[in-house]
Amino acid sequence: CGIVAYVGQQEALPIIIKGLKRLEYRGYDSAGVALMDQHGLSVYKKKGKVSELEAHLKERGEVFSKVGIGHTRWATHGEPNDTNAHPHYSSTEKLAIIHNGIIENYEVLKKDLISKGYTFESDTDTEVFVKFIEDIYVNNPISLEEALRLALHKVVGAYAIVLMNKEEPNTLIAARKGSPLVIGVGEDEYFLASDATPIIEYTNKVVYLDDYEIAVIRDNRLQVKTIENVETNPYINKLEMEL
Ligand code: GLU
Repeated sequence: CGIVAYVGQQEALPIIIKGLKRLEYRGYDSAGVALMDQHGLSVYKKKGKVSELEAHLKERGEVFSKVGIGHTRWATHGEPNDTNAHPHYSSTEKLAIIHNGIIENYEVLKKDLISKGYTFESDTDTEVFVKFIEDIYVNNPISLEEALRLALHKVVGAYAIVLMNKEEPNTLIAARKGSPLVIGVGEDEYFLASDATPIIEYTNKVVYLDDYEIAVIRDNRLQVKTIENVETNPYINKLEMEL
């Protein structure tokens, strides 16, 4: 339902929490974040309001991270509970994903992954999505964005996603088809969100990702390519600030 992600020089968590609250108007049943904190690639998630996620985070102690992804979920596959909330880990817990939308062929993909030995904690289509990407990534000598690109050729449905990879701590990888995704371009920082409301207080420069496009933010640089592997020149829109 709602997506907020950040990579830059500031603390990511307060920016993500504030952004998720700005997206509350869309409605949701649970909320979660993944951060590259002192424990590694950590996922914190909770059924209920963003304020309940905040209370859960407080219990876990202070966390610090300059990169992170956050999600408010509106359940389509699997009841609203802590386990089904996003982000979802890959089986090695090296990848974490947030996802808006529905993967229509998730049952076929899941069956195939189960036959390869994968197990599933949640009832979501999203956990199938990240493990499907993982399976391609770990079995081929390719980058994560290339594994994602190959995966997207096999996935049917609608999605806006953001991926984190423990092995590349300052990188965010995103893609969309059918569900909106906006990239905010700041000074040495980038924001991603399902609409511009969480972004406008930080920057008025935004890129609207198109269907079938993959965005890679790495080393403070944004690169966009299509799922046919054609690099595109991201057009930077200047939003009118109405504060
Ligand atoms: N289909 C996913 C789920 O049920 C994502 C739902 C959403 O867009 O929030 O977990």
